[in-house]
Amino acid sequence: MSTSKPLHAPQTGFPVVDGCLQVGGIPLTRLAQRVGGTPFYAYDRGLVTQRVRQLRAQLPGALELHYSIKANPMPALVQHLAGLVDGLDVASGGELKVALDTGMAPARISFAGPGKSDAELRQAIAAGICVHAESEREIRATARLGAELGTAPRLVLRINPDFELKGSGMRMGGGAKQFGIDAEDAPRLLALAASLELDVLGFHIFSGSQSLKADAIVEAQAQTIALALRLADASSNPVRVLNIGGGFGIPYFPGEAPLDLAPIGAALDSALPRVRAALPQAQVSIELGRYLVGEAGVYVARVVDRKLSRGQVFLVTDGGLHHHLAASGNFGQVIRKNYPVAIGNRMTSDEREAVSVVGPLCTPLDLLAERMELPRAEPGDLVVVFQSGAYGLTASPGAFLGHPQAQEVLV
Ligand SMILES: *Cc1c(COP(=O)(O)O)cnc(C)c1O
Repeated sequence: MSTSKPLHAPQTGFPVVDGCLQVGGIPLTRLAQRVGGTPFYAYDRGLVTQRVRQLRAQLPGALELHYSIKANPMPALVQHLAGLVDGLDVASGGELKVALDTGMAPARISFAGPGKSDAELRQAIAAGICVHAESEREIRATARLGAELGTAPRLVLRINPDFELKGSGMRMGGGAKQFGIDAEDAPRLLALAASLELDVLGFHIFSGSQSLKADAIVEAQAQTIALALRLADASSNPVRVLNIGGGFGIPYFPGEAPLDLAPIGAALDSALPRVRAALPQAQVSIELGRYLVGEAGVYVARVVDRKLSRGQVFLVTDGGLHHHLAASGNFGQVIRKNYPVAIGNRMTSDEREAVSVVGPLCTPLDLLAERMELPRAEPGDLVVVFQSGAYGLTASPGAFLGHPQAQEVLV
């Protein structure tokens, strides 16, 4: 084995017994029988619970924790999370329905995302959830639909900050963006919102995603709080909601290390009392998606063919990019890198070889691992892709080539 190459962060969440990976305490081979076939996603509820507990232990008790459903909207998983977090963040009428079905109090559900339709806004207002307005049109439409429904809708202004989360995998704030109201335009739109029949609760400031750098997150949170305090000066209502975004990343690729929560917790410990002094009614929250669920999930596909082509071994599986676009490297990555991959029923085998793991689609993009050192595998063996609990099935082009959809289980 080459030692100079950067390695994936070790996968410690899933134990190995007799050479077989266990998910939710069930050997993977047995779980595949229980599911009834491959490919499938399996999410470990114990790992999700453990992740929320770790976060709560390291972050201030007064900080609310919200789950962003778009990371993984599987209803059973969202239901499990609803019992662990303080709120659910949705980004469509469909996610809204999943969130309401959990029984989470409507006031603890928020709806952000550009281009909300009148139909979606009407659903949100009728349910009593909080609309995070991304534009002047959304503010006016929310007030108009509220009047039709005979209620003053809960409204938060989503702000496009004048900074970004440095080194984040996906930039969603700063510069010109389709997300949120430009910070410099916020005072005008705050005045507009205050003049309409709306219950204006506060601000939502999201500056980026998938960051593994604690110092970058600390800096973005400090800038976020400073911006919120400036905006609060322009607000005629007391600020009751302050969502400071999220952006906590997980290690996907070789050389990446898990995020260190301690400095983030320490910085928030000192910042929150200052927020409380300035905005005594503000409930401060963070919103996390992949950090809560990404490491709790695996994608499992079966080897159907083992091919040798001009000296290279290809394991052809029954799963691929149509179920797991991100692992194939085609979900926003600039340079393709391998996700952590294993042969789930041969975890301790020491007969190893360099292989590429591909799917059944007629495109060279359908790649789950490229020239990776894995235990020698045969048809029937189970390929496991770790770090697959977020942006998996629902972030993939399931209809591409007409293969069966993958199943999902929560164990
Ligand atoms: C997608 C999204 C999130 C979740 O991002 P993760 O990287 O999965 O934590 C949080 N907030 C907003 C506004 C989002 O659009």
